[in-house]
Amino acid sequence: MAKTFHNFIGGRWVPARSGRAFTNSNPATGEPLGEFPDSGAEDVEAAVHAARGALRAWQLTPAPKRGEMLYRLGQAITARKEELARAATREMGKILLETRGDVQEGVDMAYLAAGEGRRLYGVTTPSEMPDKWAMSVRVPVGVVGVITAWNFPFAVPTWKIFPALVAGNTVVFKPSEETPEMGWHLAHLLEEAGVPAGVLNVVHGTGPQVGWPMVQHPGVDVISFTGSNPVGTKLAVEGARLGKRVSLEMGGKNGVIVMDDADLSLAANAVAWGAFGTTGQRCTATSRVIVHERVHDELVRLVVQRAQALRLGDGLEEGVEMGPLVSAKQLERVSGYMKVGADEGVRVATGGARASGPGLDRGFFFQPTVLTDVRADMRVAQEEIFGPVVSFVRVKSLDEAVAVNNATPFGLSSSIFTRDVNAAFTAMRDLGTGIVYVNHGTTGAETHLPFGGTRGTGNGHREAGHTMLDAFTEWKSVYVDFSGRVQRAQIDNN
Ligand code: NAD
Repeated sequence: MAKTFHNFIGGRWVPARSGRAFTNSNPATGEPLGEFPDSGAEDVEAAVHAARGALRAWQLTPAPKRGEMLYRLGQAITARKEELARAATREMGKILLETRGDVQEGVDMAYLAAGEGRRLYGVTTPSEMPDKWAMSVRVPVGVVGVITAWNFPFAVPTWKIFPALVAGNTVVFKPSEETPEMGWHLAHLLEEAGVPAGVLNVVHGTGPQVGWPMVQHPGVDVISFTGSNPVGTKLAVEGARLGKRVSLEMGGKNGVIVMDDADLSLAANAVAWGAFGTTGQRCTATSRVIVHERVHDELVRLVVQRAQALRLGDGLEEGVEMGPLVSAKQLERVSGYMKVGADEGVRVATGGARASGPGLDRGFFFQPTVLTDVRADMRVAQEEIFGPVVSFVRVKSLDEAVAVNNATPFGLSSSIFTRDVNAAFTAMRDLGTGIVYVNHGTTGAETHLPFGGTRGTGNGHREAGHTMLDAFTEWKSVYVDFSGRVQRAQIDNN
């Protein structure tokens, strides 16, 4: 029988108040993994109440102590890395090699945020008046609502929750309903690390039933969201109406430019990893290859070769290189884009259909797919497919390649393969994405650099890196006058 999991509210493990539950299943095998609370607005209400109740004491806990809890958390995650990675592969489908990386990102974020406990730097600056002190300090915003996607079920929540906590906020977290177990593990780990009751609360359920009441709740001060553009945009509109901050990390349509002087074998390996890793379900996945016409056919040949050699299967099995899509809905979405491509006149160089065969028939497997004869303005080259599908667009020059790269509604990641240092620096300057790689594919962000994108990928925020506190803090400017007089700025000194 599937195990029963609960919400974590005010330090207690509780079912949904309605008593309703939903089943979470393994996308590779269909096996039920657990029953999770199918929560509603009343559970959000309880979680926000707990988060607000815990806020004052948490804010008054010295930041280095908050950081130490995160440090212990990093150690606890490290000790359980394998167990967590296996659980993530079971519920999300990507292979163990990748879920180990997903968990490691959580460790990296814990240590990065822990260090921030002894920094949380403000700015001091001279006053224009004599005998007066001036400084600005970061203060927590209050209660942070965290709403996340399923593709990095461990890492992405940590990118939000750990900085929010070290800054002195309390959190209400709604994990994706596709990957609730990782949210449950995270809550357990925080409890074990000694984070006080109410500081992190986890409410499971759907977006409309749990996420939306979080956005609307007057007790939630900030929403930090990772997910699709239609949902993120809707949340931002509601946030604007309510006057609350909404930080958005959304989709990508990431391009790899391959110039005619590139190391083609290296580029092909990077494209295959970027396009088919995580079954193409990364916000930074390589979904377009913008390739110089002189090397187009050879690069297609090399990438097709790599795609056809990939071993599909249950990500828990040794030797498997690509797992299933996360859900029937994703399978339908990716299959739908094959029809879109066919109607647009693209050529399928390999793949293009649901994968079947021994060990694949009970899961949502899709063949690694290479599309060629793709024009930059076609839907398959403009819209996020979020599956193991890569489109080849042929170009004649670096200028054209950069223009093609920049002409989508998204701006998360891009890359160039070239041996020409001038071309590399031109691309670094002109590629209009939040992340740019040279001689490396579009994935592989490190936690100590800012992460996020331009245009439709976000709304100007960056996670991680030295920007990690920005969404979760306000600036407070403080003046201390020790002159014993009423000193009027801009007046008495001019
Ligand atoms: P999604 O938008 O369907 O769901 C994301 C989260 O929002 C889920 O927890 C969901 O329950 C919730 N949600 C849905 N409707 C809601 C509503 N009306 N109100 C409040 N919350 C609601 O996205 P997904 O399918 O889970 O994830 C895939 C998307 O995430 C892709 O577009 C991908 O590019 C993006 N993503 C972006 C990044 C990044 O950092 N830029 C990282 C990972 C994934």
